[in-house]
Amino acid sequence: MISSFEKRPLLVAVWLVLSFSIVAPAQNQAGSSAAEPMAVDSRISAALQQVSAERIRANIEKLASFGTRLTLSAQDPAAIAAGRGIGAAREWIKSEFERYAKDCGGCLEVKTDSFTEPAGDRIPQPTEITNVYAVLKGTDAENTKRIVLVTGHYDSRPSDVLDVKADAPGANDDASGTAVSMECARVLSKMKFPATIIFLTVASEEQGLNGSHHFAKMAKDEGWDIEAALNNDIVGGDKSAEQDHSVVRVFSEGLPAAATEQDVRRIRGLGGENDSGSRQLARYIADVGRAYSKDVGVEPLLVFRLDRYLRGGDHSSFNQQGFTAVRFTEFREDFHHQHQNVRTENGIEYGDLAKFVDFDYVSHVARLNAATLASLASAPAPPANVHLLTKALDNDSALTWEASPGGRAAEYEVLWRATTSPEWEHVQKVGNVLRATLNRSKDNVIFAVRAVDADGHRSLPVVPVPER
Ligand SMILES: [Zn+2]
Repeated sequence: MISSFEKRPLLVAVWLVLSFSIVAPAQNQAGSSAAEPMAVDSRISAALQQVSAERIRANIEKLASFGTRLTLSAQDPAAIAAGRGIGAAREWIKSEFERYAKDCGGCLEVKTDSFTEPAGDRIPQPTEITNVYAVLKGTDAENTKRIVLVTGHYDSRPSDVLDVKADAPGANDDASGTAVSMECARVLSKMKFPATIIFLTVASEEQGLNGSHHFAKMAKDEGWDIEAALNNDIVGGDKSAEQDHSVVRVFSEGLPAAATEQDVRRIRGLGGENDSGSRQLARYIADVGRAYSKDVGVEPLLVFRLDRYLRGGDHSSFNQQGFTAVRFTEFREDFHHQHQNVRTENGIEYGDLAKFVDFDYVSHVARLNAATLASLASAPAPPANVHLLTKALDNDSALTWEASPGGRAAEYEVLWRATTSPEWEHVQKVGNVLRATLNRSKDNVIFAVRAVDADGHRSLPVVPVPER
C-alpha cells in the first residue's frame, strides 16, 4: 500500500503527459454558467445593421408581382418575358444574386440545380424544377469545404395546389423566406469567412418538398459537408391581432430522421432523444439570439418538434439525408392568409398578400439568420469523434475527442446540463487538449464538447457517444 501510494504522483504526471488530459479540480466542478452568451464579433454586429427592411419589402412585393409561382405554372420564354409564373420568378432571383455577385467583385458564384420531377400526386406531368443558389466560398483552404446554408422556397400555391391559373402571391409563404436568403446573400457577401455559406432558394416545396429533396440528396451524394441548414418558411410576421412580433419559432427534430437502428437503441437506453444535431443547432441559435439581441430584434423560441401538426418543410429534406437543419416560422400563422385564393368572403380577406406582411419583422428574422450563418462560418469545425469513456464503473466522466478539423480551434470547452434541462447550463474551459476528466457522474448529466477559436467563435457542440 505504502509503496504504491508513493508512486502515485509520478504515475499521475506520466498519465497527464501521455493523454494531454486535464482533470477539473473538485472545487471547480460546477464550471461557469453556460448561459454566458458567445462573444460578440463587431464585424458581424456591423453587418447586421446593413440588413434592410426596405429591400426586403421590395423583394417580397416583386416576388408577389409574378402573379403565381406555382411550380406547375409557366416557365417558357414567353411567360418569362411577360413576367408571370415560376419561370419569371426564378430568372429574377438569379439576376438579383448575379447583381450581388457583381457588387462584391464576383465573390458569389450563382448556380442552378435543375431536374425533371416525374409525375406524382401533386405533379400531373413531368415538370422541370429549378433551385437557384449563390455560393460564398470560404477563404481558408482547410475550411472552405465546410458549408452553412440558408434557404427559403420561392414557389407558392393558391387554394387548389394544382390550379395553374389562380393568383398565388405567396408573400408570407414563402416570399418572406426567399427574401431572408437573398438579403443574407447581399449583406454577407461583403464579408469574408473561413467556411463556405450557401444562399439557397428552392422550388416545389408545395408540391411535396421536391426541390429541397433533390438538393439535399445531391449534397449527400457528392459528400458536401453541410454543418447546418436554416430553413425560413412563413417568417412574414402576419399582422393579425394575436401575433407576437418579439419571437420567431425555431423547430428542430428530436429523434433524427437518419438515425440507424443502433443509434435508436442508444438513444432509447441513454436518453438522447433531446440531443440531435438539429437540436444543438437550435440551442446555438438561442445563444446567437442572446449575444446579438440588440442587433437582431427578435428572440428565437425553441420548439422541440420537427414541425407543426400536419405540416412539413424543406428542413426535413436535409434531416432525411443526415444533415443538421431547423425551421424558422413566425409565432402565429393566419390561415386565412396562406394556401388561399385571393378573395373576400363574409367580410374576411383571404390570400397571401404583401400587405399582411410585417417587413421589419422579416428583417429581424434575416438578422438572426445572418448572425447564425456568420458565427458558424467564422467558427472552428466541431470536434470530431467525441467519446465518453464508459469501460470502468466510476463516478468521474472522461471525454476524448479528435482535433477540430481545419486547425482553427484555440481551445475546447466541455458543456453539461441536467437531463431535464432544455439548454446547456455549465461550461468548463479545458484548454487545447483532446481529453478531459470531470469530477461529475455521466449518469446524472448530458455532456458535450465544442471548439472555440482565438476570438471566441464557438463551434456547434457535439454530444459524445459512449466508448466501451
Ligand atoms: Zn411554405
